[in-house]
Amino acid sequence: MSDKTYGFETLSVHAGAAPDPATGARAQPIYQTTAYVFDDADHAAALFNLQTVGFIYSRLTNPTNAALEARLATLEGGRGCTVASSGHAAQVLAIFPLMQPGAEIVASSRLYGGSLQQMKNTYPKFGWKAEIVDADQPDNFKRAVTANTKAFFIESLANPGGVVSDIEAIARIAEDAGVPLLVDNTLATPYLCKPIDYGATLIVHSTTKFLSGTGTSMGGAVVDSGKFDWSKSARFPSLAGPEPAYHGLNFYETFGDMAYTFHSHAVGLRDLGPSQAPFNAWLTMLGIETLGLRMERHCANAAKVAAHLEKHPAVAWVNYAGLPSNKYHQLAQKYLPKGAGSVFTFGVKGGYDVGVKVVDGVELFSHLANIGDAKSLIIHPASTTHRQLSDEQRVAAGAGPDVLRLSIGIETVEDIIADLDQALEKATA
Ligand SMILES: *Cc1c(COP(=O)(O)O)cnc(C)c1O
Repeated sequence: MSDKTYGFETLSVHAGAAPDPATGARAQPIYQTTAYVFDDADHAAALFNLQTVGFIYSRLTNPTNAALEARLATLEGGRGCTVASSGHAAQVLAIFPLMQPGAEIVASSRLYGGSLQQMKNTYPKFGWKAEIVDADQPDNFKRAVTANTKAFFIESLANPGGVVSDIEAIARIAEDAGVPLLVDNTLATPYLCKPIDYGATLIVHSTTKFLSGTGTSMGGAVVDSGKFDWSKSARFPSLAGPEPAYHGLNFYETFGDMAYTFHSHAVGLRDLGPSQAPFNAWLTMLGIETLGLRMERHCANAAKVAAHLEKHPAVAWVNYAGLPSNKYHQLAQKYLPKGAGSVFTFGVKGGYDVGVKVVDGVELFSHLANIGDAKSLIIHPASTTHRQLSDEQRVAAGAGPDVLRLSIGIETVEDIIADLDQALEKATA
């Protein structure tokens, strides 16, 4: 199908998945295979030389994964995509072609806590460094650039605090600095925001969340816009110089706007190995078929729950970019016109003890560490995900003692509100 003329919902159902030519099967088949038979020795040699496109071994490529990759590239408006075993694997895979020992990235301080953890503690083991800046002032990115900077990293809509990034302003600074802008688009999904339209080069996803949509399947993805000129400076030798990890091949010279995606498969997945299981790719494709419908309901429900909590007597504050009172409301109207997502935080009067009682008191909500499920989810970060931090660090991370994080599901909204009301009543009785 030609992608250009179809709407988002049509592409969510069809992109990347034509009927199987061998059997006529209408659903995407699951290619649960490790390897693929070569036609002959010449065919095998051409595959290994990347002179012909095809399948060798499922650590590198797999037809079910390829269908998901095509669908995600289409939905994000990108050129190519690589799926990975988790969102965190995708983040390492995403910056791997750009990095070398001594290389730096500049990242927003409002990233998902797990991402900051990865950057602060594990990057240094590769000889990489992350400079963390407050993204509310885009000029902070400009000030942090050095000769070793290889990329900027932000979230379109940050997990969890209702923080919206000024993608266009940060993309302009990235362009002036000659580095790609990476955007983690997990919370927004391409249904709510397409960062490539605002100048982002690379998109990363935890497909574990809204894309798979029902809390069943770990997965991640990297989408390349195909718009970055890797040869414009000497900053990206793995992409635009002879790559020693692939017998001196110059990926940009050979593959042009597919260089980054070919490198991610032929070197990144080959040598790091975080490939996605075909069954997870299949479940994620199934999830994406209903992405638009689900996001519409997620956002409508979240807006109603946030408005209700904002006037609840037991609630001190609500951080949801969809509320007119929110600091990021203007940015949300620009970048998330269809809705501000369904993950947000609120504070309970009475602090830690009341917070713990609320998570113990909910009946419909599930108390767990995940977001983006069809089911409504709740967590009290201070007693769980942010337990190891000091009080001061917790407050700085938006995980103070009174904070509760919600991921509003697609259930009947009156039921969601009633469950929070009864839990708040019990907790403050
Ligand atoms: C969950 C999450 C990740 C990590 O993804 P996993 O699939 O859990 O590895 C990264 N970024 C954001 C914004 C997330 O919510």
